[in-house]
Amino acid sequence: MSTATEATVAPVGQDTSALTHIVNCPDDKDNTEAWITEARVFGLELTALCGHRWVPTRDPIRHPTCPECVDAANIIIAEVGA
Ligand SMILES: [Zn+2]
Repeated sequence: MSTATEATVAPVGQDTSALTHIVNCPDDKDNTEAWITEARVFGLELTALCGHRWVPTRDPIRHPTCPECVDAANIIIAEVGA
């Protein structure tokens, strides 16, 4: 899964500070979307790229993306890419 890191960077979830954080797919999960859904259903805690930890909810509101997560994602993509 050499491309896993880039593929699994996706903006998902909400938190109490009204930011959408970016979550990396755990090594034992197939993809981030499945992992987020699982966390939402079972009330599992997610850890964002910026280090923020929270339990995702069904909140359908789209919040601004966490700038720290964006920075972290850009670093990851830069390391994986090219
Ligand atoms: Zn974040």
